[in-house]
Formats: sequence, structure tokens, C-alpha cells
Amino acid sequence: MKKILKRAAARTQQPAPAPTGCEELTNAPETDPAALTPGVCQECAELGEDNWSHLRMCLSCGHVGCCDSSPHQHATNHYRDTAHPVMRSHEPGESWRWCYVHDLMD
Ligand SMILES: [Zn+2]
Ligand SMILES: [Zn+2]
Ligand SMILES: [Zn+2]
Repeated sequence: MKKILKRAAARTQQPAPAPTGCEELTNAPETDPAALTPGVCQECAELGEDNWSHLRMCLSCGHVGCCDSSPHQHATNHYRDTAHPVMRSHEPGESWRWCYVHDLMD
């Protein structure tokens, strides 16, 4: 009688897309929260400022803030104020994420 040995499937590909070592990007929710102020930086709107460069959305709470190329850098301010670690680009056609803790793009 012939005995057939089955080999375990070779692990050539890792399914996890997030960079290793970054729990924030790994644990970020798959479904983004709804933007609190779609298309507008919340703090700039309160200041009457409309001179931002790009917008970023916090994946913890949906806060929309302006990027570091903008005069007020409200997205980074939001991280400093709240410690919400991951944001996503809020620009049309962009879907990258950023972890403030590790300065890591995903
Ligand atoms: Zn991280
Ligand atoms: Zn702003
Ligand atoms: Zn937030």
C-alpha cells in the first residue's frame, strides 16, 4: 500500500498588508468613520480660514484637518491634542493612511 504524505502549504506570501510593527495601522478600522466636516478643515472653518493645502481625516473620530503644508497644520494639531494615531488622506483620488506614532505611510 502506498502512503501519500501531504505537505503543508508553503508560506510564501504574507496576507497582512500593513507594515510590521505598527499596531495603529494594523488595528485601524476597515471602515472609515464619516467625515465630521467633509471637504473642510474644521478648525480653519472656525477661524474663517480657507487657505489650506490638503486635507487629512482622522480614522478614530472623523475629524478633518489641514496638512503640514498648510498654514495651521490642524491635522497634526489634532493628533497632538487627542493622540488619535492614524489619519487618511481626504483628497479626491488618494487613499493612503499615515501613522503619526511611527511616521509611517500605508
Ligand atoms: Zn504606528
Ligand atoms: Zn486647518
Ligand atoms: Zn480624531
